Amino acid sequence: MQTPATTPRDINPTEDGKALRIVWEDGHESVYLPFDLRMSCPCAGCVDESSGRRTLTEAMVPPNVYPTAIEYVGRYALKFVWSDRHDTGLYSFDLLRGLCGCEECNKMPAPPRRSSR
Ligand SMILES: [Zn+2]
Ligand SMILES: [Zn+2]
Repeated sequence: MQTPATTPRDINPTEDGKALRIVWEDGHESVYLPFDLRMSCPCAGCVDESSGRRTLTEAMVPPNVYPTAIEYVGRYALKFVWSDRHDTGLYSFDLLRGLCGCEECNKMPAPPRRSSR
């Protein structure tokens, strides 16, 4: 299910080129460091499918890793081609929104929903 919170309006590198910024339809802005994104790769090569445990360790990823290409996969995900040649991870917008490391998202792990508008 796509909501404004998981629909990207804009996907661009930050001005200094060091990070990736996604502006969402609900106006929220997320900034991702390439290394953190690479470490969050959800593919079967990075996460053990049966246990759900991450098999990828920080030692396996170059600290200066960066995406050489970013492709849309349908309307629901992005595929990154990384400078370490890894390209099997599909990052759904759900996942990406959940990875947002901003202060606001971090202090509200489970935002309470109010029925009144
Ligand atoms: Zn992976
Ligand atoms: Zn956020």
